[in-house]
Amino acid sequence: MSEIIPFRRKTAREKARGKTLCRNGFHKWEAVKERPFDVKEGKLLTLYRCRRCGATQIRRT
Ligand SMILES: [Zn+2]
Repeated sequence: MSEIIPFRRKTAREKARGKTLCRNGFHKWEAVKERPFDVKEGKLLTLYRCRRCGATQIRRT
């Protein structure tokens, strides 16, 4: 069984509401999961989410 990570697709209205820093790519990332999780290739990944706009990002750890 694999874990499914939902990605929110931003609507035009949500984009317009975003902060200038976020729109320029400077998000305020925070780890959603404290522990990295395994994917099938065996790499460790951590899910991050922006506190301001709610964008998500996955990083290798
Ligand atoms: Zn953001």
